[in-house]
Amino acid sequence: MIVQRVVLNSRPGKNGVPVAENFRLEQSTISDTIQAGQVRVRTMYLSVDPYMRCRMNEDTGSDYLVPWQLSEVADGGGIGVVEESKHDNLAKGDFVTSFNWPWQTVAILDGSLLQKLVPQLVHGRLSYFLGAAGITGLTALLGIKEKGHVTVGANQTMVVSGAAGACGSLAGQIGRLEGCSRVVGIAGTDEKCSILVKEMGFDAAINYKKGDVAEQLRELCPGGVDVYFDNVGGDISDTVISQMNQNSHIILCGQISQYNKDVPYPPPLPPDIEKIRKERNITRERFLVLNYMDKQEASVLQLCQWIQEGKLKVRETVVEGLANVGAAFQSMMNGGNIGKQIVSVSK
Ligand code: NAP
Repeated sequence: MIVQRVVLNSRPGKNGVPVAENFRLEQSTISDTIQAGQVRVRTMYLSVDPYMRCRMNEDTGSDYLVPWQLSEVADGGGIGVVEESKHDNLAKGDFVTSFNWPWQTVAILDGSLLQKLVPQLVHGRLSYFLGAAGITGLTALLGIKEKGHVTVGANQTMVVSGAAGACGSLAGQIGRLEGCSRVVGIAGTDEKCSILVKEMGFDAAINYKKGDVAEQLRELCPGGVDVYFDNVGGDISDTVISQMNQNSHIILCGQISQYNKDVPYPPPLPPDIEKIRKERNITRERFLVLNYMDKQEASVLQLCQWIQEGKLKVRETVVEGLANVGAAFQSMMNGGNIGKQIVSVSK
C-alpha cells in the first residue's frame, strides 16, 4: 500500500532555529497484510511540541528522548482510527493514541502499544486527547499538584509564562481551580493576552514584547508571586523570580526560550537570580510529567470532567495536512499558536 510520510530532512544544529525545510514529505509503501498483534491505522491528528526540538539534534541531551534519524519517519503524539485489527483488544473503528505515532498517513502498529480512546469523554473532540485531555493537560495539572504547593484559601498569586500556549493556557485555569486567588499570564501578543483574560479567566496578562515586564508585574502582583508556572526560562523567568515571595515555588515545566541553544537542562539561573532564589527559599525542582504516569488515568478523568463542565476552556490552533507538519512545528516554536498546536491529517 502506498502512503505519505514525513521524514527528518536535515538537522538545524544545536544552536540553530528549526525551519519547515528540516522536514520532507515523501511517498513510501507499507505491507498490504498485517501480522498477529498488529493493527493498521489511519492517522487523524498529530501533535507538534517544543520537546521535539531536542529530537532534531543528534544528541537529545536527555535519557528519555530518542533522536530522530535523518531520512527516517518522524514520530510523536498522535491519534488515529483502526482500519484492520489482528489484536485481541482492538477492533475496526476504534480510536487509538500513542506517544510514538509515525508522521504517516496510514501505518501498521503494534496494538499493545496503543491506548484506546473514549470520544464521549471530550464531546467527540478527539484531538483534545493530544492536548487538554492528554499529555499537555496532565503536565499542567500534575505540575501544579506536584510542585506548586497551591492551597485553597491561602490567597496565592500565580504567574504563568508561555501563558497562551498549550500548557500555559491550561495551567492558569487549573491554578485557579486548585485555589489560587490571582492568576497573571505572560504571552507574546495583545490578542493572546486578551484571550487569556476574556476567555480563560486570567485576572491579567502581560505582553512581554511591549513595555517593561518588571514594572507591569509589580503593578499586577502587588503582593508578590507565590507560584510561578515556568514554560519559557530566560529573561522573562529572571524577572518573575525577582518578584517571588519567601518560601514560594517555581513549577519548572519547560524553558522554551533556551531550546535553540546548546545549554544543559534545566539551564542554571544567572548568579544574581540564583542568589535571590536561595535567600528566599524558592523551590525550583525539575518536573517531568512522564514520572507521574501512575496518576494518568485519574487525572485525565478530572481534566475531562472540567472540560465537560465548561470549567476548563480549550483552544487549539489546527493546521491541515501532513505536508504542513514541519511548518506547524516551526510556527509553534515562533509563537504562532494559541493553545495546542494540532495537525489534522484526515477526519
Ligand atoms: P506552547 O506553549 O504551545 O508553544 C510554545 C510557546 O512558547 C509559543 O507559542 C510562544 O508563545 C512561547 N515562546 C516561544 N519562544 C519563546 C521565547 N523565546 N520566550 C518566551 N516565550 C516563547 O508549548 P507547550 O506544549 O505548551 O509547552 C510549553 C513548555 O512546557 C515547553 O517548554 C515544553 O518543553 C514544556 N513541557 C514540559 C513538560 C514536562 O513534562 N515538564 C511536558 C510538556 C511540555 P509567545 O507568543 O508567548 O512567545
